[in-house]
Amino acid sequence: MFPKTEEVKVMRDPVHGYIHVEYQVIWDVINSRWMQRLRRIHQLGGANMVYHTADHTRFSHSLGVYEIVRRMVSEVPDIDQALSEEEKVTVMLAGLLHDIGHGPYSHAFESISNRSHEAYTCDIIIQDPEIRTILESCQKGLAEEVADVIRHKSANPLLPQLVSSQLDADRMDYLLRDAYFTGTKYGEFDIERVLRTLRVSDGKIVVKESGTYAAENYIMARYHMYWQVYYHPVARAYECGLLKLFLRLKDLMEEGKMPKTIPAFTPLLKQEKLSLDEYFALDECACNYGFELLCKAEDPIVRDLASRLLNRNLFEYQENNAAGNRKIRALLKQKGFDPRYYFGKDEARQRPYVPYSRTGSEGIWVRMHTGEILELSQASNIVNALVHGQERSDDRVFFPKEILENK
Ligand code: CA
Repeated sequence: MFPKTEEVKVMRDPVHGYIHVEYQVIWDVINSRWMQRLRRIHQLGGANMVYHTADHTRFSHSLGVYEIVRRMVSEVPDIDQALSEEEKVTVMLAGLLHDIGHGPYSHAFESISNRSHEAYTCDIIIQDPEIRTILESCQKGLAEEVADVIRHKSANPLLPQLVSSQLDADRMDYLLRDAYFTGTKYGEFDIERVLRTLRVSDGKIVVKESGTYAAENYIMARYHMYWQVYYHPVARAYECGLLKLFLRLKDLMEEGKMPKTIPAFTPLLKQEKLSLDEYFALDECACNYGFELLCKAEDPIVRDLASRLLNRNLFEYQENNAAGNRKIRALLKQKGFDPRYYFGKDEARQRPYVPYSRTGSEGIWVRMHTGEILELSQASNIVNALVHGQERSDDRVFFPKEILENK
């Protein structure tokens, strides 16, 4: 038996209505300092530079993922019956904690730190004294079991599927939440219908045939959100500026000319594996304060790049092609910009859904009325067209817009 809170606790949420908490261990994890740190990390990296209301945090997303998992294990009869209470609490905790190791500025930061947020997530769950104590005092071995769900190593393969697969609580929450906070209506999909049509078949989550349209709609939502929000060139221009600033700092540090900023940047720039305390110190409030200090640095490039980020004087962008790039490089030279810090390339590629057969990644499965289990692209013409159509990509270069001005 897992201890319950005195009464069911509820938190208002614009996406799900309410987040419901009835287990004490869930409530204690929500109140831990690592979890509260997620209030200081935005869900989307540079997208709030495009969509000014997209200021929602990893904290609200984590609560949302937890809530969807909670609904899956209590409202979907097949899943409810397939899992023990211990497994339900474990997978709800995994949903709540799946992003606990996320660093600032979404995924751009991972290329600076050279370590994935998943690796930090498991370290925090297993090693942080506060979270470990909350989990282990609830049940011995719970910390490892929660981490195992996130690492896809659970004894019961159903658990990781609920948190991260192709049709999982993580994606369902971030699509709905990001659509809501950016205001992009076509990023929405009918989660009620998806949950209502979920079933379990041979240890696998499947959608009933009558849920095919809802699953199609979810894939289309993904497709639109990627191109309209996640891969928006302005969001990528912000990320490019971030990478260039850290590149300049790294170069200065090697020359022994590191400007005054927050201490937490030092181990990051030295590419050391950060201790959990050092990593904890790197939230977005700290980083933005660090950038503010850098606006007063002696080095003009650092000063300029930091102020571009804080004041949204972002890089301009155009298609990546040899003739265009030659022209930009010539203009950069003419106006005195070092291309190492003022010329960036980024190619975004995406398929909204990759079926099981090609990559070995889990697909979405549909149980037909005949009992036959089909992979979604075989059950849906629309998804089939997306899978077999051309992969879309968007290849851009980024540079300061001043070089295009006639001054
Ligand atoms: Ca997530």
